[in-house]
Amino acid sequence: MENNILLVNVSDLNQYLYCPRRLYYLMFYHTQGLNFVLAEGRSKHAHQSRRGQWYREMYLRSDKLHLHGKIDLLEGRTKLMPVERKHGTSFFDNDEVQLAAYCMLLEDYLDEPVRMGYLYLFGTNERYAINITDWHREKVLQVVQAIRNMTLDNIPEFVDNPKKCEKCSTVQYCLPEETKMLEREDAKKVRRERNE
Ligand code: SF4
Repeated sequence: MENNILLVNVSDLNQYLYCPRRLYYLMFYHTQGLNFVLAEGRSKHAHQSRRGQWYREMYLRSDKLHLHGKIDLLEGRTKLMPVERKHGTSFFDNDEVQLAAYCMLLEDYLDEPVRMGYLYLFGTNERYAINITDWHREKVLQVVQAIRNMTLDNIPEFVDNPKKCEKCSTVQYCLPEETKMLEREDAKKVRRERNE
């Protein structure tokens, strides 16, 4: 089936890195796929407002990066930096990659380097400055391409870490335990048939 994902939503990078199969269900079986279409009609930073050194809600889109997304909060008077707010008490590589994607969108819009952003954790009320490295940039490009290549008829594998499934909202579509059980049953049946 032909791929028609032209623009990837930044938040989808985080979902993909959590589990590609989860993003598959969100995109093709949920409402998230609409985002790509809705994005077409929006103008850049349509809802921008400013208070002191803070900007809120800057919508950005880059056809060059195949990315779009809304940065909820930006800090800085002369140098703007995105602030990505997270629930919980810790952050992971996927959160850093999401932040890096916002930095790349911002630098594409401003036409100047954005080498740092912040992750703020509601759980601890702490803020972490994250330097955006070549590793982050490469990862963003790689994941954007992987998402653009996703198609309805190609379901990604189950995630390796079953703990992720316990917290996954698409588990009712994915049915990891049930599918693995059926696969085991099928394998047993094939072995029995071979031995008959
Ligand atoms: S239930 Fe597990 S394997 Fe399935 S989409 Fe969610 S995280 Fe991925």
